[in-house]
Amino acid sequence: MKLSERVEALAESATLAVTAKAAQLKAEGVDVVSYGAGEPDFDTPDNIKQAAIRAINEGQTKYSKPATGIAPVKAAVCEKLARENDLSYEPSQVIVTSGGKMACYLAIQALVNPGDEVIIPVPYWVSYPEMVKLAGGVPVFLNGDENDSFKFSPAMLESAITPRTRMLIFNSPSNPGGFTYHPHEVDAIADVVTKHDIVTLSDEIYDRLRYEGQGFKSFAATNAKAYEQTLTLIGASKTYSMTGWRAGYVAGPQSIVKAMAKLQSQSTSGACTFVQHGLIEALTGDQSAVEQMRSEFEKRALHIHHRLTSISGISCNRPTGAFYVFPNVSRTYDKIGVTNSVDFSKAVLEKAHVAVVPGAAFGMDACVRFSFACSMEQIDKGLDRLADFLA
Ligand code: GLU
Repeated sequence: MKLSERVEALAESATLAVTAKAAQLKAEGVDVVSYGAGEPDFDTPDNIKQAAIRAINEGQTKYSKPATGIAPVKAAVCEKLARENDLSYEPSQVIVTSGGKMACYLAIQALVNPGDEVIIPVPYWVSYPEMVKLAGGVPVFLNGDENDSFKFSPAMLESAITPRTRMLIFNSPSNPGGFTYHPHEVDAIADVVTKHDIVTLSDEIYDRLRYEGQGFKSFAATNAKAYEQTLTLIGASKTYSMTGWRAGYVAGPQSIVKAMAKLQSQSTSGACTFVQHGLIEALTGDQSAVEQMRSEFEKRALHIHHRLTSISGISCNRPTGAFYVFPNVSRTYDKIGVTNSVDFSKAVLEKAHVAVVPGAAFGMDACVRFSFACSMEQIDKGLDRLADFLA
């Protein structure tokens, strides 16, 4: 069967592929320790589940009206962004989507024309370049400095901007890097962006998962011009352990949100209605579960960093946000007879039954990604195996 060129050129999501492979091996009886998907191991807080169940029982099972999200969910999003992100938006500037990934897809489809350049800092989340290419855009990669937690500087950004640049994709706290830009660094990057006619898609889905007092600033909160040029993208998956619910949202300039709404009306017809009721409860209800999960992730961040850096040949930045570590493992390649991160990941899966995502999928072949959204016990079990395998 002949498939479209678009799809033929598209890479499968490596994060989902590794996770599926680990799940398949587990189903076959293999005791795999998976550091694959960025998916919290906690249950969704009960108050959120009950809100969605109530909505189903009350008949909230029809189309979302409007497709951009029901009025109370948009109000809840505006309230959250004002309370936690120092951002003032009107409901008409908000769209609720089936997960953060869909939000990202719609934003790129709404803004990028064939040949437009989109600046993507490396390491990047696997789906950004593929979504840009699907829109006919050209990803322009900005290599972060490994000695500075993989961060890019304002000067590096300035030199990557050309007359064809349409968008910067900014992601802090970072997937897969686990680093977070300090507020003053976000200010300096925004100062560069606002000198040009480009939009920043600011993926802030890990905004509340920060460790050891790490500061944070929303990109749109840096200055008035940046606010006009930024789409703020967040979702419930990571903060509230709601990955399977698919609940994301974007706030930004009305003209862009309207364009995304048009696309949404012709594709998904909007986020699931009772999920939106769960999202309202997540954003406006008791927040104590968020801190409980965050502080557990913080303990894991310190622990996994300590354990990884005790293994000879592995170097690694300490995570300040999200739930990933992205160690450089390339100094172990010779020892285990591999030459790249894909073969490294294959070898540790086959021989040590440990699943990690190859750094090549994030634009850095010297590294692999570990998600520590799994229990402390699993973290130790997998790292014992890895240490033995690499000894
Ligand atoms: N964003 C998560 C990750 O990077 C979930 C999987 C995905 O959508 O890529 O693991």
